Amino acid sequence: MIAARSLRAFELATRPIHPHSRIVLDRRWADLPEHVKTDNQLLGRCAIGCEGTHGVFPKCDLTCSPCYHSADANKVRVDGEHTLSEVHEQMEFLHQVRGPRAHAQLIGGEVSLLPAKDHAEALLTMRKFGREPMSMTHGDFSYDYLLDVVLDENGQPRFTKVSFAAHFDSLMRGRRGAVRPRNEAELNPFRETFARMFVDLKKQHGVSSYLAHNMTVTPSNVGEVASVTRDVLEMPYNMMSFQPAAFIGDDRRWKEDFTEVTMDAVWDKIEEGAGHRIPWKATQFGDPRCNRSTVGMRVDGRFAVLLDADDPRDIAARDRFLDHFGGMIFGDVPKHILTIKIIRAIAGHPGDIPPLIGLARRVVKRAGGAGAMIRAARAGKLGFKTFVVHNFMDAAEVAPAWALLEQGITSDDPKIKETQERLGSCMYAMSHPEDGRTVPACTQHSVLDPIENIGLRELLPLIGRSAADPAIVSRPDGLTAVRSTGKASQ
Ligand code: SF4
Repeated sequence: MIAARSLRAFELATRPIHPHSRIVLDRRWADLPEHVKTDNQLLGRCAIGCEGTHGVFPKCDLTCSPCYHSADANKVRVDGEHTLSEVHEQMEFLHQVRGPRAHAQLIGGEVSLLPAKDHAEALLTMRKFGREPMSMTHGDFSYDYLLDVVLDENGQPRFTKVSFAAHFDSLMRGRRGAVRPRNEAELNPFRETFARMFVDLKKQHGVSSYLAHNMTVTPSNVGEVASVTRDVLEMPYNMMSFQPAAFIGDDRRWKEDFTEVTMDAVWDKIEEGAGHRIPWKATQFGDPRCNRSTVGMRVDGRFAVLLDADDPRDIAARDRFLDHFGGMIFGDVPKHILTIKIIRAIAGHPGDIPPLIGLARRVVKRAGGAGAMIRAARAGKLGFKTFVVHNFMDAAEVAPAWALLEQGITSDDPKIKETQERLGSCMYAMSHPEDGRTVPACTQHSVLDPIENIGLRELLPLIGRSAADPAIVSRPDGLTAVRSTGKASQ
């Protein structure tokens, strides 16, 4: 009996695609609007999409323009207990309705205002529910804080790998040492210092990392996207993500006409900075008006894209992969289980081996050959780089589009209809267990955050301070320094 149960568990663990993943992916595909059911679509075929937390720690200690947090966010106290119970509920629900594995962002206000122990606990909770967590930060925290998150009381790593996304751009105000940066270049030392903390973390404690660099783009800094790309490509970031600014969140922080910056304009600047073409059309997450991304290998300044839409052999390999292996879980799987999984997957589709090997050969060729790769690896100049542009929508359009969607009505207004199409194809979901649903992040920020933060203000008021005093966010474990987060009246 026990042997039969163990055998069944082993069979399930090594099955190429988990049955729960299959169900949620098929459902996601069926629910997608027809216009995004394209050959290059990844949602519903190999990924369920990204996820993020909300209402777990709304407060932030910088004052950026724009800021996507609602006007009340800074009136909510950071409270580790609240964070942990919310993260638990949200992640448990995501696991139920979106399957055993997804990338999820620990996001809300500024994550480093959380006590380090609670930050670590939140990441462990996310992992427990099969989420690959990424902490979203402004990057203005110390190495000591990072160590407090990553190491336990005995100085032992809690994680083998951590992911952080750090937001750096000249629209941000209040960073220590760069309170009011005049240009993007001024932030380079801070970008470098942040990334170097994770190099040290690996050297000193053996903990790996995945790092993303985020930048909001407005007409005032779009001209600097090329130089930021050029500079950050030389730093140990794995992903560079750019977000053309949208009119969401605190309207006191809307200072420019953001509509002037298009995805194409940003991508052109990224290519200019990288010094080469960056093909992206072979894959798509959600609606192309929302999101554009690609991944490739950077070999001593040369970029070898993993999939080039202009090469039919790449497309044939992509299609085979998506048809036969889409939905396989590779992360957080013990090596021996993963090996058997892969063997079972390949055994089911042996005809896929030649096209996939062919694809690998082409990538090596694009990278300048195996010799160039070995030389670059020795010099520390080889790594995968992902480029992303994510185009959030304005609250003025999301609010009416969502209101109609809630009533099952498709708008006649072309702009609102477009917004509804994009919301329906959303690749970035937030969890609402209380309503038994997930919502697009645009809806969360534009429609739900303001209401949620009014409630959170009541639940977690700033305590013991007059309006004129700074609101202090302490880290009660006492491991890292207490910091001021500015006026309580903000
Ligand atoms: S609907 Fe909004 S959050 Fe969702 S993918 Fe589009 S821009 Fe992103």
